[in-house]
Amino acid sequence: MDDRSNIMKMEYKTQQKKEHLLTPDQAASLLQYIELRLQYHTCKHNHRFTQEWLEQNMDFMKHNDVLDELENMEGYCDCAVLLNCYEDYEL
Ligand SMILES: [Zn+2]
Repeated sequence: MDDRSNIMKMEYKTQQKKEHLLTPDQAASLLQYIELRLQYHTCKHNHRFTQEWLEQNMDFMKHNDVLDELENMEGYCDCAVLLNCYEDYEL
């Protein structure tokens, strides 16, 4: 393998691994929180449980950034966050 293909491989890997605002621990905590709530409540197609978790765990200034991040991963509502988000963390 020549140098060029090594570099391309490294770039590919970097692109695959996206940076998230939440650490794996925080993401696990968020997903667990939503999962528990959705056992007793149906998803209202909004982020109400995500918001609750944010209020308890994240600095207010970061809430919108985290919600943007979730929507970028197709987490458009609480149940979608559970299904679609942070898959690369393999939680
Ligand atoms: Zn939903």
